[in-house]
Amino acid sequence: MPARMIDQLTRLRVPWIVADAKAVIVGHGPQVPAIFGREPDSELLGHSLHEILDSWDTATGLDAAYRAIRERGHWIGEFTTVIADAGAARPRWTTWRATAIDDDERDGDVLFVIDDRSELARTKFDLDRMTRCFQAISASSHDAIVILDQHGRINYYNDATRRIFGVHQMDLNGRTFYDLLTPEGYRDAYLRGLFDFSRAERPFEGGEFRVLAGRRRDGTEFPLELSVSTVRVENAWWALCVMRDLSDKVRVELEYHTILNAMRDGFFVADAQGRFLEVNNAYCRLLGYTLPELLRMKLNDIEEVAAEGEGFHYESIRRKGFSRYETRHRTRHDQWIDVEVTANYLDALGGRIVTLVRDITEKKAAEDALRKSEAHYRHLLESIPQKVFYKDRDSVYVTVNSSFASDFGMTPRDFVGKTDFDFFPAELAAKYRRDDARVMEGARGEAMTEHYTSGDRVLTVQSHKMPLFDPDGRAMGILGIFWDITERIEMEEELRRKHRETEQALEAAREADAMRTNFLANVSHELRTPLNAIKGLANVMAIETEMPTEKRLQYLATINNNSEVLLRMMNNLIEVARIESSPHAPKEMVFDLDPLLAALTQRFEIHAQAKGLEFRYKRAPRFPSLVIGDPIMIETVLNNLLDNAVKFTDRGHVAFSAVAMRAGVNRRNLRFVVDDTGIGIPAEDLGKIFQSFYQSDRSSTKRFRGSGLGLSIAMEFAKKMDGALHVESEVGRGSVFTFDVPVGIPPRE
Ligand code: ADP
Repeated sequence: MPARMIDQLTRLRVPWIVADAKAVIVGHGPQVPAIFGREPDSELLGHSLHEILDSWDTATGLDAAYRAIRERGHWIGEFTTVIADAGAARPRWTTWRATAIDDDERDGDVLFVIDDRSELARTKFDLDRMTRCFQAISASSHDAIVILDQHGRINYYNDATRRIFGVHQMDLNGRTFYDLLTPEGYRDAYLRGLFDFSRAERPFEGGEFRVLAGRRRDGTEFPLELSVSTVRVENAWWALCVMRDLSDKVRVELEYHTILNAMRDGFFVADAQGRFLEVNNAYCRLLGYTLPELLRMKLNDIEEVAAEGEGFHYESIRRKGFSRYETRHRTRHDQWIDVEVTANYLDALGGRIVTLVRDITEKKAAEDALRKSEAHYRHLLESIPQKVFYKDRDSVYVTVNSSFASDFGMTPRDFVGKTDFDFFPAELAAKYRRDDARVMEGARGEAMTEHYTSGDRVLTVQSHKMPLFDPDGRAMGILGIFWDITERIEMEEELRRKHRETEQALEAAREADAMRTNFLANVSHELRTPLNAIKGLANVMAIETEMPTEKRLQYLATINNNSEVLLRMMNNLIEVARIESSPHAPKEMVFDLDPLLAALTQRFEIHAQAKGLEFRYKRAPRFPSLVIGDPIMIETVLNNLLDNAVKFTDRGHVAFSAVAMRAGVNRRNLRFVVDDTGIGIPAEDLGKIFQSFYQSDRSSTKRFRGSGLGLSIAMEFAKKMDGALHVESEVGRGSVFTFDVPVGIPPRE
């Protein structure tokens, strides 16, 4: 090792180390212990360089140096290493240059000249870190960050700048902010600012924000907030500009105000003292104040105060976070407006009240009208005598009128929320509920007559039920009205009954009338026929004086017959007239039945035989002769029965019998039976033949002329004498008339 060289290195204060071929330190400069922080003799000399340069880089560097020296005899190279430093507080960045020492004594020694670059490296490291920080910050910043030199040329810009200004890649070559991003209207201001900034002696500390405008690549302008800081580097000023795009904020504010002012409802923000901080147009319009006027006022100047000392209840709104109430607000013209206030507590900005004010004048008026209409409706409901109810869709009473409620000794209020099961027997209530459901399912109402219990009375009512629908067409309940028609139904029933009776009476009268008409025709005919015969024969006899005796006798018999027919007819008519005008009581006289019966049988035997009929007469052995009674009535009855029998019989016989039964002391019941084999009487006529003027079997009346009076007179007389008259008959077989009459027997002397 050339001592001169080492001296020189030492003098130049260049740290050096000599190591042998095995990298063991054999000598070093005086600075070396300090660089490594080790003791010169005990920790350096005789120790391997590997011990103190123990990082991987160092080992590689050392190996490379020794390899080159072994192969080529020398190596001049450089490697930087961090020295493993046991004692020193800081790591050392050092660069090593190695040279093989050409020395005969010590073959393979290597001189390392060490350059300690620790301070420089640290500065570089710090700078690097700072730069990286700045880049990270500027890359992630939402704000545009631009660095300008003092001529306004853009030196640096971040991603946000590109985004905000709408540029892709800026050509920065000599371009200024002025060229690129300053809008027309702001160029003068920009230039003035740049001039001030370039001449400023002190750096701007930044932090002062100014709202300016920016220009996008496409020429549009937008609101921009700018803050500038300056730094001086190597005699030159640099400006760091941070710019924020205010478009969103401005737009949001614009929208906010547009919405507020487009709102129909009033809106205001008030502070804790109730001072208006912000008011929309609608609220100004509502109250008639201008915005500046309102902004000088408090809520207490506007809102109606219920009681002394009350007013803007900030505390309660704050506690609840929300409050909605109805009150009145006073207009500029001292009028009160009904309003609904919705106040929200907003924690931000020192506790503000954000409030909506709705004009409810119309709503109040509508409510008022509704209340009135409800009152009218109630009045109407109460004033009609019918019973009215309204039930909801579950058949629960919503309201009823007093007419209904009073049936139960209750008031309408008692019905609310109850059902029919609370008032009616279960079965009836169930029926009502079924009816309700059916009516609600149908679209139209139903009218029905039904029963209804009021107390212990069962009434018949007429009811109308109709479904009520909500605006969506869903059934929401049922309206019913009903009234008592019990009396009406009874009256109708009574009327129907009377009507039926009248109809029957009329029918009877019509029949009677028809019979009377028929009777008149018959009677006139019956009277005229025998009279004409009598008159004709009498005339002939008057003219033919020389009439043979036989013929005369025949004429006289005919005259006599016709006279009898005439007489019988007259008698009947007289009887009828007598009965109708003055019904008289039967006589109680003693008379002899024998001659009466003898005359009758004699006469009808002749009539019967004249018609070719057999006439039978049978008188019971103990039949009395002298009796007490009405001989005329008895004879009239028998006469009529026998006359009919002969009249209505064409072949066969007519039988007449008389029996008597004891009916007490001196009392007998006489029974006369007239039995014929004639035409008979239809069963349906049996009840009618005893009425006046009735003649059965019209077709036969032509053959059997009569008045229709005989049997009615006979029945009349039989009843008067406390007797009875019966008939049994069969059409085509004949008839049996039975006449019962009680008589007295005169006591024997
Ligand atoms: P008339 O003058 O028509 O005989 P009556 O009152 O005696 O009136 O009788 C009423 C009707 O009763 C007769 O028209 C006849 O139709 C019926 N009638 C009465 N007796 C007999 C009888 N023995 N046989 C059949 N019909 C009879």
